[in-house]
Amino acid sequence: MQLRRDPITQSWVNLEDEGETLARPRGAPCPFCPGHESFSPQTLYENSGGESSWRVRVTPHPHPIYRIEGDPQRRAEGIYDKMRSLGAHEVVVENPSHDLQLSRLTDENVAQVLRAYLARVNDLKKDRRFRYVTVFRNHGALAGGEFEHPHSEITATPFIPRRVGYELRSCLRYFELKERCLFCDITGQEVADKIRIVDQLDPFVAFCPFAARVPYETWLLPLRHHCSFEEDLTVWEEQLRFARLLKSVLLRLEAVAPTYHLVLHTSPNLGAKFQSSGIWRTLAEDYHWHVEILPVIPSKAKSYALKEVYYNSLLPEVAAQTLRNVRI
Ligand SMILES: [Zn+2]
Ligand SMILES: [Zn+2]
Ligand SMILES: [Zn+2]
Repeated sequence: MQLRRDPITQSWVNLEDEGETLARPRGAPCPFCPGHESFSPQTLYENSGGESSWRVRVTPHPHPIYRIEGDPQRRAEGIYDKMRSLGAHEVVVENPSHDLQLSRLTDENVAQVLRAYLARVNDLKKDRRFRYVTVFRNHGALAGGEFEHPHSEITATPFIPRRVGYELRSCLRYFELKERCLFCDITGQEVADKIRIVDQLDPFVAFCPFAARVPYETWLLPLRHHCSFEEDLTVWEEQLRFARLLKSVLLRLEAVAPTYHLVLHTSPNLGAKFQSSGIWRTLAEDYHWHVEILPVIPSKAKSYALKEVYYNSLLPEVAAQTLRNVRI
């Protein structure tokens, strides 16, 4: 695997040298069920919740997209940039049961999963080679879910992923102009308007964004300002409340859009090597952590004109109303 930078858009592209097959042989035992720890022997994090066996466990991904060892070896090829696909790729096993999805877990168990995210993001940010840590969840085979066992994934990369890069630049520009946080302003308006709110559990809120990219796209975020998930969501009571709101949103979504991508957007690693500190001068004030959930809807082949922009067949006002009305 190698990373190449698109010189026009500046985004990094992950390129596979040879088509590796990642599929697990059919009928092979689940590597994440209790008792099968020998398939994934290295434990990066474990939470027993006071019981004898683990409740949440984090282990390196068995087929990582990124490799943890060594140096990125950034180099030029003429005018082009490339580097090794250095990074971390981990699996968060959300609970011991093979069939119990995140939305069906107890509040306490979901809060323990959030604690695992927190601990791993903090730990990976100590590695100065990594500029960004992403926590995400591919729910359902259509969303690229690789394992049946309920899990999330974490990657740490020597670059800031494209979408987060756009957000950081946009939030900085808005702050320079108005000396206010863009996400705080958006959230303030959504809470006042109410039409796109899915659910609210103070100090957190969930709503469908104004320009939703896909049907039922939903964001969850704290009402009070903070740029960093792992520094903000540290108190058990608040972890429980966020867990409760997340479960409510997932249960509603699963009734109408059972396959989704979930991603956590938090501040970049300010301690990373070569990270120019100047551009992050106002980060604590201008960026606001959040979770985005993007349902994956099977779609027919689209006209090229619709590929150039996002095309969403459902107004977020209608989506939010449908989600609010789901009986959970
Ligand atoms: Zn399993
Ligand atoms: Zn804010
Ligand atoms: Zn985001």
